[in-house]
Amino acid sequence: MRIWGKASPSHRGGVSVAFRISHHKTMELIMLGTGNALCTRCYNTCFYLRSAGGGLLVDGGGGNGIFRQLRRAGIAVEQLRHIFVTHCHTDHILGVVWLIRKISPLIHKGRFAAPLTVHCHPEAAHALRTMCRLMMSEKICGALDDTIIFHELDDGEEFTVGDLALTAFDIHSTKLKQYGFQAVLPDGQRLVCLGDEPCAAECEHWVAGCDWLLCEAFCLWSERQRFNPYEKHHSTALDAGRMAGRLQARRLVLYHTEDRRLATRRTAYTAEAAQHFTGIVHVPDDLETVELA
Ligand SMILES: [Zn+2]
Repeated sequence: MRIWGKASPSHRGGVSVAFRISHHKTMELIMLGTGNALCTRCYNTCFYLRSAGGGLLVDGGGGNGIFRQLRRAGIAVEQLRHIFVTHCHTDHILGVVWLIRKISPLIHKGRFAAPLTVHCHPEAAHALRTMCRLMMSEKICGALDDTIIFHELDDGEEFTVGDLALTAFDIHSTKLKQYGFQAVLPDGQRLVCLGDEPCAAECEHWVAGCDWLLCEAFCLWSERQRFNPYEKHHSTALDAGRMAGRLQARRLVLYHTEDRRLATRRTAYTAEAAQHFTGIVHVPDDLETVELA
């Protein structure tokens, strides 16, 4: 609970104190999906950062399952205002195409308070515009660059979403251009999202000493021969823990995993990461909320 306000003289000459009391949790990370691209037992990795001053959806997963996950998490599509898209791989961007398909008519009918802002690098904006124009009616596409705005980000660009102060950065992907971000939370904590690849040397300064590190872990190190994470430029839970330990992150959130061991994922991944990381490890399930503050 957060209380703010200021003492002010009342009309009667005495002193009254006008406070607004918010019962919202100050800051939450709501995991909508935690799996890698080909998962069928959980949804593709995407999440919602909810603060007292707003919210940011990060990626949309790979299809219209985003609607089910939002509904199950109690997040109405009508309350989305800002989406961050990390990159153009199917398991991250296609859910955003579905959201545009749904939100554009809502704006048209006056049931969505425009604009919707999609924050992404120019290639992702181009891909979204192109896919929408190839797949949807002119009526739906009429909202593009009008009430659905693409905020095309440069590497290192700062922007705000409600009470979150964000900086987008190029993660130096070996596969396809991808941006991660740093979010400074209202209480000053620093959350860093590395997208879905290991931390590149160029990005270590973002991670160093951060309060929350969101990092992919494709599988366990002990199962690397079964899932081949390195072929796909992914990490294991052990690798992620080693990196987080070396760069002195305070807390580590692991996601974008395989889905063959969901029942024991939390314990097994945490144990591996903890071999090199003494901070707190979170391995959330789909629809789990992590309290950030
Ligand atoms: Zn991915």
